[in-house]
Amino acid sequence: MFIGSTRYDHFSPRSVIILSREALLKNTELPSFLKYLIFICNLCGSCDVRCPAKIKITETIKVLRNQVLAQDASAAVV
Ligand code: SF4
Repeated sequence: MFIGSTRYDHFSPRSVIILSREALLKNTELPSFLKYLIFICNLCGSCDVRCPAKIKITETIKVLRNQVLAQDASAAVV
């Protein structure tokens, strides 16, 4: 599932990085879909091994989860 010219798969680690980068650059709240993505990840670590850019996806997801939970503990329920 690709969105127009942005070339990202909705349910991929790439989406996590793109959406979190956009929120960081715009200094806005994390979008609800990103919150959903970070809480459906089971932190298996496969992304870390397979990422060609060596991005530490699971560490990024943990940081994002902590950020969301610090703002709203009920956000963990998806
Ligand atoms: S770490 Fe595992 S569960 Fe999480 S997004 Fe990557 S492959 Fe999926």
